[in-house]
Amino acid sequence: MNTTRTRSSRTGGIEMKEEEERLNCDAIDAKPVDYDFSKGYGEKWEYFEAVECDKCGGAVIVQGENHHNDVEKTNCDGYLNSDGPMMDYYYPLPGFDMDVEDAAKAIVDLPLCIVHFNENDEYALALTGGGMNLSWHICTAYLKLGYMPPLHFAELPKFAGGPPIGPAAGKRVLKAMEQSIKVSQNWLDGYKVKLKDMREWVAECEEDKKKREQKTK
Ligand SMILES: [Zn+2]
Repeated sequence: MNTTRTRSSRTGGIEMKEEEERLNCDAIDAKPVDYDFSKGYGEKWEYFEAVECDKCGGAVIVQGENHHNDVEKTNCDGYLNSDGPMMDYYYPLPGFDMDVEDAAKAIVDLPLCIVHFNENDEYALALTGGGMNLSWHICTAYLKLGYMPPLHFAELPKFAGGPPIGPAAGKRVLKAMEQSIKVSQNWLDGYKVKLKDMREWVAECEEDKKKREQKTK
């Protein structure tokens, strides 16, 4: 991962430290959105899911069941299977501009896929599994796609044995979450300054109004 000291609007206007990852802040306000994936497939939405080929171990994009050599030019005839979204909600990827297949391959080891909505050309993450709190995995997926994780997941769950993604990946998530909190704090401080300015402006207007009323008496 690249590190940077450059100031970017996508980082929320904060100067990043050398050891921080170059991530954009577009998704820090993102929240899960309810969506019925049981209908509209192919028409309203499509998914890009990479799976590991059971024979060669390669990350391959596949919809449903297929053999490796049916979807890519290869001699490998390994079996591939993807089910797509398994839960009826998604996590938005605002301003998504990656190659969608590269993105799906980047999260091959996570229980998530990329969904594309045809109507508005938007992209999102969707879970391909469930049964436990997958917040650590979701945050890692955001990271791998270049986003600071959403603050929605700031209260990460503790599991016996540590983060389910492993301690190193867990530390990376926490560091990135700190960036999300810092950007958000920066925005809140900005609102405070604006609010102070508005208070002063309203007080001045009130004063002017009083003066005008006194003159007309
Ligand atoms: Zn294969």
